[in-house]
Amino acid sequence: MPDLAHERERMIERQVARRGVRDSHVLGAMREVPREAFVPEGLQEFAYEDTPLPIGAGQTISQPYIVALMIEAAAVRPGDHILEIGAGSGYAAAVIGRIAERVYAIERHETLARLAAERMARLGYDNVEVRTGDGTQGWPEVAPFDAIVVAAGGPAIPQTLKDQLDIGGRLVMPVGDSQREQRLVKVTRTDATHFEEEDLGGVMFVPLIGEYGWAEDARPRRPAEARSFRDPAPAQSIPELIRSAAEPLPDLDDPAFGALFDRFAGARVVLLGEASHGTSEFYRARAAITRRLIEQHGFNIVAVEADWPDAAALDRYVRDLPVPPNTEPPFRRFPTWMWRNTDVEAFLAWLQVWNMARPRDARTGFYGLDLYNLSASIAAVLDYLDRVDPEAAAVARQRYGCLTPWAKEPQAYGRMALSRGYAACEDGVVKTLREMLDRQLEYTGQDGESFLDATANARLVKSAEAYYRAMYYGAAQSWNLRDTHMFETLEAILNAKGPDAKAVVWAHNSHIGDASKTEMGAVREELNIGQLCRERFGDAAALIGFGTHTGTVACASDWDAPMEVKPVNPSRPDSYERLAHDSGIGRFLLDVRAGVHEPLRRELIDPRLERFIGVIYRPETERWSHYSACTLPEQFDAYVWFDETTAVTPLPTRMREGPEETWPFGL
Ligand code: SAH
Repeated sequence: MPDLAHERERMIERQVARRGVRDSHVLGAMREVPREAFVPEGLQEFAYEDTPLPIGAGQTISQPYIVALMIEAAAVRPGDHILEIGAGSGYAAAVIGRIAERVYAIERHETLARLAAERMARLGYDNVEVRTGDGTQGWPEVAPFDAIVVAAGGPAIPQTLKDQLDIGGRLVMPVGDSQREQRLVKVTRTDATHFEEEDLGGVMFVPLIGEYGWAEDARPRRPAEARSFRDPAPAQSIPELIRSAAEPLPDLDDPAFGALFDRFAGARVVLLGEASHGTSEFYRARAAITRRLIEQHGFNIVAVEADWPDAAALDRYVRDLPVPPNTEPPFRRFPTWMWRNTDVEAFLAWLQVWNMARPRDARTGFYGLDLYNLSASIAAVLDYLDRVDPEAAAVARQRYGCLTPWAKEPQAYGRMALSRGYAACEDGVVKTLREMLDRQLEYTGQDGESFLDATANARLVKSAEAYYRAMYYGAAQSWNLRDTHMFETLEAILNAKGPDAKAVVWAHNSHIGDASKTEMGAVREELNIGQLCRERFGDAAALIGFGTHTGTVACASDWDAPMEVKPVNPSRPDSYERLAHDSGIGRFLLDVRAGVHEPLRRELIDPRLERFIGVIYRPETERWSHYSACTLPEQFDAYVWFDETTAVTPLPTRMREGPEETWPFGL
């Protein structure tokens, strides 16, 4: 179980304070209330995520930030008497109760009201009273109130509630003529007959259902009172705008497929994403685009989200380079299907044929940017130094010896470093890399290609040492180390290949879409290779994301668990994916760069959910495990859509004696 007090502190700092909630009463109260006590069994691990969560009866506990925003807007103060409508889990009422003198909370669903009341009792919050009923009628027996907070969206502000406000009292409520999207409105009663109104911005709440709210069957019951705070509806719906901007894609095997991406050929780095780690269409599309960029536009580097030493084995195959002795077969560790699959095999077979028709220095290489295969990288560095500089090899062997006991289970090294309070192996691995780079001239005299390989491995050892230590400080630090390592490795390849080198990168959307335009960056302070490329290369970096609505995917249920093919849930109604699906076009390219399709871009710019399926896919908790808010048109330069997709076909991982040509996967 993660440290929940620590997570609560982070939530308040990152999700609440940093977004502008300054009210010390609100921040203090949120620090006191254990949010995990208000979410259902099984969802506690998500209690401090930046999202609403289901609480049963089709209702949700509001996103922490929204709770904070509403309580701040209602200016709840010590001594106040407050009415909350829509108690739900009781979380917001509990937070209010830590500030105010008394809280009266009404919830329509009896089961929820009972649960909320039980929670108050268990936590000893005896100044909060929860009852079942229709909150749109207010609670006249205990009125007037210093503030009323309504946690569900209605078509208009009920007069009944305004009447129950004290003079100077505040009411905060989501109002809108749609059942999903509203404006947050604050009403202040200035005297017996006057009320001032303020619009606090767009929000999304579950509907307020009752006498003065929406009817059960979803039509406003008091149309005369309904008023709209919403912007006028766009002339065209978003799916219609997508439909007009989308460029339908031809068949994956049609050469015209790659040609549609010629507009990005001027870039130095083209980054191609994927929305899962096991979807055939994403691999095949990236292969088609990459092939075009290599054949027509001089791209000579393919760098992928795989470990350096493993990708190096494939590189030797596609460029016909000598195979060093003692090379381990590549990609034998989880998740093997990510690279050992028929789509990757077909791409490598093509690349090999392409390369064999060209002189050595005009061949396109295949490289890995990731940092997990510590033991293979250690072996590769020592092998290299044994050949070019036996004295340095002896020193490196001793330094790496510090890590060797942990190389097969590097997490244990991180734990050890943490408990001893110092990074025992750090100095040595940093020095080895630095000394190798310092001796570049001396070493490259022998062979530039092997020098790049060996220093990339030494960089991997250095980054991995820091990565496994950082794992114990928090997800963001280790994520950032990993993506910074990927970026530095990419730069090292580009530098080694000279000023005309151009690279295609294959990695997950979460790595190649600009993290600063996503919740990952904004809330968790994570950066990624896409963002670093934009910062370094500006317009000479093209970031291309991929997405799908439904189909099947190769994945696992847990780390190191066997591969399964699971159905992909249809995309959520509040996601970018659903907008793409509703366009009705099965396969398309959407150019979302500024100035290309401005009306659409404007509509897409408000953050929405986007789905990230990784090696692990958990459809049961999909919303919290896999969706995250993003600003898609700023995250990517283009978006490639396949409405329905299929799982990759894995290749077997066991070894078999066989003829040479079954290389690269050594099967
Ligand atoms: N404040 C809650 C969020 C609840 S979501 C929390 O922190 O968990 C909104 C809640 O309003 C739902 O539980 C819904 O059942 C309830 N609701 C909707 N209409 C209502 C009404 N007329 N009276 C009382 N509750 C209502």
